[in-house]
Amino acid sequence: MMRATLFYLSTQPALRRWTETSSFSRKLIKRFVAGMTLDEEISVVRRLNAEGILATLDHLGESVKSTEEAAASRDSYINALDRIGAEKLQATISIKLTQFGLDFGERQCLDNVRPLVSKAKSLGTAVEVDMEASPYVDATLRIVHRLHEEDGPVRAVVQAYLFRTFDDTAALCDAAIPVRLVKGAYEEPRSIAFPTKAEVDSEFVRITHLLLDRGTYPAIGSHDETLLQETERYAARQGVAKDKFEFQMLYGIRRDLQDRLVRDGYRLRLYVPYGDAWYPYFMRRLAERPANLFFLLKNLVRR
Ligand SMILES: Cc1cc2nc3c(=O)[nH]c(=O)nc-3n(C[C@H](O)[C@H](O)[C@H](O)COP(=O)(O)OP(=O)(O)OC[C@H]3O[C@@H](n4cnc5c(N)ncnc54)[C@H](O)[C@@H]3O)c2cc1C
Repeated sequence: MMRATLFYLSTQPALRRWTETSSFSRKLIKRFVAGMTLDEEISVVRRLNAEGILATLDHLGESVKSTEEAAASRDSYINALDRIGAEKLQATISIKLTQFGLDFGERQCLDNVRPLVSKAKSLGTAVEVDMEASPYVDATLRIVHRLHEEDGPVRAVVQAYLFRTFDDTAALCDAAIPVRLVKGAYEEPRSIAFPTKAEVDSEFVRITHLLLDRGTYPAIGSHDETLLQETERYAARQGVAKDKFEFQMLYGIRRDLQDRLVRDGYRLRLYVPYGDAWYPYFMRRLAERPANLFFLLKNLVRR
């Protein structure tokens, strides 16, 4: 209920206008977003690599409205891959398929994504395909399976809150496709998704075990300390070495936990977004944690 209200508020035009223009929210954005330009992004990734942290670059944007915009997304990621190669950065890229024309058809989307995957392959890196809201899940999984069959270095993302995800993950494991497990960041109906945190957490644990038992270099994406500790415990018990999986977290969230994992010898990759289309990403981060949005609203009222 609380989450649904926060999602509703985050779609309100007045809040959007204020958020996009206020200097206060710009300060808050800096906490979650590396910068507006690729240069700013690269300097953050360079610093993270120097600290022993891997990265995945996210050029912010989703749901493009034209084929020209989809082509522009592709070109901006090609530039990012060029920089990863030129600077020998320890980094993958993360993409959203609606940024590459998924709304206009799977064929067109594949045509836009293939050049990225082949470029990533030539550089020895990979393309991580974010999972969006539930209407896109089938098409996204089909595209990831297809790119993998074409020998492309891709990682699928699965969301523990969906009832279907355990089975989807088992199929990805059978195909030896690397997976990033997350809880899920969209507002989904109770008919297809677990409604409570306790249920999502318990499904997250069940899928983590599946991935550690049968997955190909899985990534566990969360800031939930209890779930991370459970992952560490289960991996140790099953004899899964620390270099056979990785943790992933979002840039700017739970830096204390990030430091601890690196100190303890785990592989950690940070998801580092950049670019000026930051509003939907920023609002999802606010909705995940009510305290964030209340902080923002309090400042809106005070103004
Ligand atoms: C690397 C990565 C990639 C992701 N990719 C996707 C994707 O492709 N598709 C998708 O649907 N979702 C994605 N997500 C988001 C994910 O689904 C969750 O919404 C998000 O990770 C919050 O869940 P949590 O596991 O951290 O647990 P929660 O139970 O939400 O949080 C646990 C603790 O983490 C901290 N925390 C969590 N979120 C925030 C925040 N926004 N601000 C401040 N503190 C916070 C708090 O201390 C909180 O108590 C991704 C997450 C990560 C880490």
